[in-house]
Amino acid sequence: MESSKNLLEEKGSPSGSPRLLQGIVQYPHPTLRHRSKPVRKVDEAFRQMVGEMLELMYKRDGVGLAANQVDLPYRVFVMNPTGDPGQKEQEFVLINPEILSRKGGMEEKEEGCLSLPGIYAPVRRATKILLVAYNLQGEEVRYEWEGLAGRAAQHEIDHLDGVLFIDRLSPAALAEVRERLLELEQEFQTNRRLGLIPDDRHIAARLASLEALRT
Ligand code: ZN
Repeated sequence: MESSKNLLEEKGSPSGSPRLLQGIVQYPHPTLRHRSKPVRKVDEAFRQMVGEMLELMYKRDGVGLAANQVDLPYRVFVMNPTGDPGQKEQEFVLINPEILSRKGGMEEKEEGCLSLPGIYAPVRRATKILLVAYNLQGEEVRYEWEGLAGRAAQHEIDHLDGVLFIDRLSPAALAEVRERLLELEQEFQTNRRLGLIPDDRHIAARLASLEALRT
């Protein structure tokens, strides 16, 4: 999920191993509609991918990023509700997350998404959630979150199920953003014609081979 402030700070590329992730894919990229598969194997390459997800999230001033958004089929997301890479105690890597319960009714707040640049709209979500997941050490973790953490976690788990926040808008709110959605759709088609985005069959084959490795 995107935070409300938009400070696009540029960072130099980190030294070390070659990058595994290309970047953040944008609506209507098909991987955003892919239902992610539970991770069964955490290896060094997986840890590196998660590290790169965190870097991309901070670089784009986000507070959460799901694997689908970096063209991966794995059930994992990263989150830091403060958006501040210095606040490591607020940084979470959540593998195979599930929401156990929703509490406290519903509330509506504005959301944005790094895969839907320029779109902001109010979304109704549970006020509080209880979530279970695994961390990178393979330990089961449980969190009860409300506020921005609760909202961001629900937004990211939706991503892992192939759901985008625009799917949850009221008809009136959707009408407000329709023009920008069409722009993003046209941009995507242009990038495809330029050969910058593979066709659906290639994307599906790549996701299937990545799933075979770790799910
Ligand atoms: Zn998002």
